[in-house]
Amino acid sequence: MSKQKRTAIEPTRADNYAEWYQQVIKAADMAENSEVRGCMVIKPWGYAIWENIQRVLDGMFRETGHRNAYFPIFIPKSYFEKEAEHVEGFAKECAVVTHSRLEDDGKGGLKAAGELTEPYIVRPTSETIIGASFAKWVNSYRDLPLLINQWANIVRWEMRTRLFLRTTEFLWQEGHTVHETAEDAMEETRKMLDVYAKFAREYLAIPVLTGEKTESEKFPGAVNTYCIEAMMQDKKALQSGTSHFLGQNFAQASQIKYQNREGDFEYAWTTSWGVSTRLIGALIMAHSDDNGLVLPPKIAPSHIALIPIYRDDEEKKAVLEACHEIEEIFQRQYFEDIRIYTELDDRDLTGSERNWYWIKKGIPLRIEVGPRDVAQRAVMLARRDLEARDKKSVPIADLKEEVLKSLREIQDHYYNNALSFREENTRKIDDQKEFYRYFTPKNVNQPEIHGGFAASHWCGAAACEEKIKEDLKVTIRVIPFDMPEEAGSCIACGKASQKRAIFAKSY
Ligand SMILES: [Zn+2]
Repeated sequence: MSKQKRTAIEPTRADNYAEWYQQVIKAADMAENSEVRGCMVIKPWGYAIWENIQRVLDGMFRETGHRNAYFPIFIPKSYFEKEAEHVEGFAKECAVVTHSRLEDDGKGGLKAAGELTEPYIVRPTSETIIGASFAKWVNSYRDLPLLINQWANIVRWEMRTRLFLRTTEFLWQEGHTVHETAEDAMEETRKMLDVYAKFAREYLAIPVLTGEKTESEKFPGAVNTYCIEAMMQDKKALQSGTSHFLGQNFAQASQIKYQNREGDFEYAWTTSWGVSTRLIGALIMAHSDDNGLVLPPKIAPSHIALIPIYRDDEEKKAVLEACHEIEEIFQRQYFEDIRIYTELDDRDLTGSERNWYWIKKGIPLRIEVGPRDVAQRAVMLARRDLEARDKKSVPIADLKEEVLKSLREIQDHYYNNALSFREENTRKIDDQKEFYRYFTPKNVNQPEIHGGFAASHWCGAAACEEKIKEDLKVTIRVIPFDMPEEAGSCIACGKASQKRAIFAKSY
């Protein structure tokens, strides 16, 4: 018997992936577009996810020796001009402050006045402004390494925006470090990439590929850019974090010099690395389903929705008492390193309405507390990763154990799902025709949908990369560290290649 399955999100992923994404955000009440073009309002449920990302990563940065500081949002244009590649890379998306006040325009309105002698750029990234401070802070090899992180907002004037994935203003962290040698700086670059990969896998339940970007995809001004890349459910890649080895480029631009062990002055070696509110977009697109948001327990703002069900005052009293008892059980209770939060939902809505509300928000567990259950000292436990009909009765006495076990299983379940999805949609391709077929949309209504990741040979020529990009809108996302050396021929030109790269469409 086939039955039309009810889904909470319209359209479904299969019908219109891009619209589905917007609807998931709306149904979970995470964020909305503001009146300011390209800027988003992050609502409490979305912001709480960002706060969890911040808290966990901040602990990891601290453990690896970094300290937080804060630098100005305004960067003098002259600072920016010091690194040529850098300015070229960001010039097209800079917000520039040119005036300092408003004046009566004589027509009942206001006009900008007080033109600045030097314009300021609203930071699109902070290498140059932080470099100006570092030049003062670093004098001797004894001052190194200098390991700083900043949590801040960033402005990049984007023409096409999408909540969390690409917005004109977004939130991020940017690590900036200074080292004595190239080796030390490279070690730091790789170490922080590993921190990001660990965070993505263990907290966001997103498997990521780690490796290097090609010359054309690297950060403007960097010597090497390393990244974590994840596959979304539409099989496109999402760059989820980057770590840059900057060589001495920015040290020269900002005059970061130190006296070495021999007493001579030399330029230092720097790195920078960052992740942003884009990670929330990754989280949504990696896990969510046609019923709404799906949240791995280790990053969820809340873990348990408590849903009391009763018909009269007498039942209400007994049921709410049991609810408070359960709240008490989870007071200051931890799931591994994560504090468990519960949400008592006693709103005047049907049980079904309240259940769907929390399903759409992605809360990992729902506990229904009804009079019959309470009489038997039990509750009904439902998991977001299972069908609603799979809810089961759990004695209150066993609830803590059962919840902890379920949270672990849900976390693993999401990771394993995402991993097998990526594996099923990654293919080694050596034939050019097959490569082109792989990236050609099968369905005209979903032009974005295509094969997935292709592991194919690339000779290293920028022209070959460019041709693939022009023909298919496919780019090299990453050259994975763990990709073995092997002889092959470039997918674009047929010349000899020693290694495969990961090609994909991307956000
Ligand atoms: Zn080639």
